[in-house]
Amino acid sequence: MSYFTHLDCSAGCGAEPLDPQGIHHLCACGAPLLARYDIEQAAKNWPRSSLVNRAHNMWRYSEMMPLLNDDQPVTLDEGFTPLRHTLRLGAELGLRSLYVKDESCNPTNSFKARGLSAAVTRANALNVGTVSTPSAGNAANALAAYAAHAGLKAKVFMPRDVKTPFIRECELYGADITLVDGLINDAGRVAKEIGAPLGWYDVSTLKEPYRVEGKKTMAYELAEQLDWVWPDWIIYPTGGGTGMVGMWKAFDEIERLGWVKTGNRPKMVTVQADGCAPIVHALENGLQKSEAWKNANTIADGLRVPRAIGDFLILQALRESAGAAIAVSDADMVNDMRELGKLEGISASPEGGATLSALRVLLKQGKVQPNDTVVLFNTGGSLKYLDVLVS
Ligand SMILES: *Cc1c(COP(=O)(O)O)cnc(C)c1O
Repeated sequence: MSYFTHLDCSAGCGAEPLDPQGIHHLCACGAPLLARYDIEQAAKNWPRSSLVNRAHNMWRYSEMMPLLNDDQPVTLDEGFTPLRHTLRLGAELGLRSLYVKDESCNPTNSFKARGLSAAVTRANALNVGTVSTPSAGNAANALAAYAAHAGLKAKVFMPRDVKTPFIRECELYGADITLVDGLINDAGRVAKEIGAPLGWYDVSTLKEPYRVEGKKTMAYELAEQLDWVWPDWIIYPTGGGTGMVGMWKAFDEIERLGWVKTGNRPKMVTVQADGCAPIVHALENGLQKSEAWKNANTIADGLRVPRAIGDFLILQALRESAGAAIAVSDADMVNDMRELGKLEGISASPEGGATLSALRVLLKQGKVQPNDTVVLFNTGGSLKYLDVLVS
């Protein structure tokens, strides 16, 4: 049973709460909407000990997931990914408690599976026939897979220069593909132009409220896997910011459930590419919102997002946690993909490699201390990016 009650404006604009039985995308003020739960009731009735015998996927936290009535999740067993204690890499860096949350183990090879499982679950419950999304690649693959599983039609819009494996995997799941000149923002514009008049249900990052709910489960899992003690640092490759926003939201929920001690949340670190670093720039310059990055360019497709609609929420999480934002080069990311591979047998995407590059910066700056518990998020696997490994 879920304690899901309503949708609320993430910017606190004062708009009335919305009924999730209807189709909603953004708040009337233009900000993302967030799902809210009756956490007081849940705290009374839902002990964390109840998790022991549950399915090893993200729906083990169904009380705090967007399910209404007797909705069944659309699931391919996403989530509950391994938290790898990376001893060899840790020894090299002088860290005893270094972990990699290995999201490459998700269906379709990336953590996008979490968000799209939740979004397609709601889309299915709302009886929409067709779902659509702009994507740099991984979101399109995940949407295509979950839509196929639910028997919905999927329309995906990707930049024309997207790597071939992403196109082939969409085809595999029977999605209709449109390639668009430009970047993900351009793909978003075209998706809207074509899809809106036809009533397609758009699941663009943070323009619908449920992908965040899927991604927030990463924080529930981390807490559970670390025996209900927060790590000191979470290092996360940030594009649209769904994961940052989702985890920050989940910290609050988990604290209010009484499952962890309050007051020592992890410091959140955003990692971006030096060829597209709007959040890094905004944090350094004390801005509340980011400015659109010009000529965005990086091999890490998931980070090639010139401006995120939830930028103010990402910046809030970074500031409130006393975290950091770090830009790294494509060359460093590729090097660190190889390091994760060679030292740990982990298959990392460039975005995953980037988190290790950022950790090196934090160590050099003396911010991360040898006894700190550090979690790197390997958000996807290497197999769709093999071309970047050709030397
Ligand atoms: C989409 C994506 C990201 C960025 O994720 P957000 O949560 O939207 O910031 C990072 N890494 C990979 C592999 C991705 O596909």
